[in-house]
Amino acid sequence: MSVLFAASEIFPYAKTGGLADVAYSLPLALAKYTAVSRVMPLYDFMPFENFLFYDNFTITLDAEHYGITIYTKKEDGIVTYFVKAPYLSQTQHIYGDENGDYKNNALRFSIFCMAIIELGLRLNTKLIHLNDWHTALVALYIKEHSLNIKTVFTIHNLAYQGIFDKSYLRMLGIESQYFTMEGLEFYAKINLLKAGIAYSDAITTVSPSYAREILTEQFGCGLNGFLQIYKEKLTGILNGIDYEVFQPLQDRSQKKKAKSKFCKKFGFKKRERPLFVMVSRLVAQKGIDLLVASLQQLQEKNMNIFILGEGDKKYTRLLSKLAKKYENFSFYQGYDEALSHQTYLASDFLLMPSLFEPCGLNQFIAMNYASLPVVHEVGGLRDSVHETKAVCGRGITYTEQNQKEFMYAVQRALELYKQKKKMNEIINFNLSCDFSFDKSAKKYLQLYMSVL
Ligand code: ADP
Repeated sequence: MSVLFAASEIFPYAKTGGLADVAYSLPLALAKYTAVSRVMPLYDFMPFENFLFYDNFTITLDAEHYGITIYTKKEDGIVTYFVKAPYLSQTQHIYGDENGDYKNNALRFSIFCMAIIELGLRLNTKLIHLNDWHTALVALYIKEHSLNIKTVFTIHNLAYQGIFDKSYLRMLGIESQYFTMEGLEFYAKINLLKAGIAYSDAITTVSPSYAREILTEQFGCGLNGFLQIYKEKLTGILNGIDYEVFQPLQDRSQKKKAKSKFCKKFGFKKRERPLFVMVSRLVAQKGIDLLVASLQQLQEKNMNIFILGEGDKKYTRLLSKLAKKYENFSFYQGYDEALSHQTYLASDFLLMPSLFEPCGLNQFIAMNYASLPVVHEVGGLRDSVHETKAVCGRGITYTEQNQKEFMYAVQRALELYKQKKKMNEIINFNLSCDFSFDKSAKKYLQLYMSVL
């Protein structure tokens, strides 16, 4: 079996969030059991001097021809293919800039999808693993051309669906017969995610709880009814993290030093206080509103809070303002991989008050850095962090997304911090757990075999 794993972002080449991490670490874990290669766009902002030319060809959408060049690079034993194409590659970011999403994203990623198929045919691939809406049209094009390639489609976050004006239909080479409720139509627009749901051979999402939640109105983002039709082919497989990138902390003395240095760097006056952090995209999903609403009360507690994040302007502005106002709160705006590692290492607790969370990776990273997650019990957080059960992944959890519950969870964390012995036991237990991708890779493998 040979699998082609397709994603719009793969760490370390291009990353905005967890998708890139998964697209890096899942194929690595799979490679122990089966032949696997990856494909992603080659964005102009990526350094590509040491990529090798692999192939070139032309793809056609609505009688328009697009010249594609494929480059490759082998790293950690895995070959990644990079698609250089008009529009797709000619951007300085992956999806958009400060003015919002790029206007031609529908075309950019449809070209990507056609290129994935052509590459798949040239590689004689029998199975393509698709990820999120950017790759979803592959499933439709395969069906349309009756190709002998199976597809597994993973939903990393149902909130992102690739919704575009109906007028794009032709440009994307999609026959109008697909513009129905059973197909891509969504409130008179095109919904590309629906192509992955309807036409793939199997659907997965990134945790068992999220797989159940997305079938409900509360978490279904308008697609719960549509997903219900396909629920027989939907499973939830929990993500993991790469143990080369995020090794469990061996030397705990490192942590103390890192915390002291970190607190000094970010201007905390009382550096011995427990340090609560967030490392996050700043979007409503991540519960920033609840955190902001609670800051006044949190300020009265014996704790420091640090946020590393980039995202919506309304949050970056607000957090910058609040960081000036509160002595125990500091905010660093930006996307910074190295600083994220320092942040996890320095922290005592990681806050994840997410409204919804398909899986979340930060909690695994934190636990490997001897930091305890404080999470809203939802989606993948429900499956990976436990307060009362002595099973792998221990932290503080709360069930209702409101200030009272959140503050009470923080209070329990603060109490735990005072009980050094108990806290250490929990941390050591987490450090002995296996949060790697290996278990999940085996589940994906079974699924691949079931569709082939
Ligand atoms: P999502 O995909 O919704 O953003 P995940 O929890 O699945 O959330 O993955 C987030 C990943 O991105 C983690 O590896 C986290 O450490 C990283 N990350 C998020 N924001 C930043 C940031 N501002 N700087 C560095 N890394 C970040």
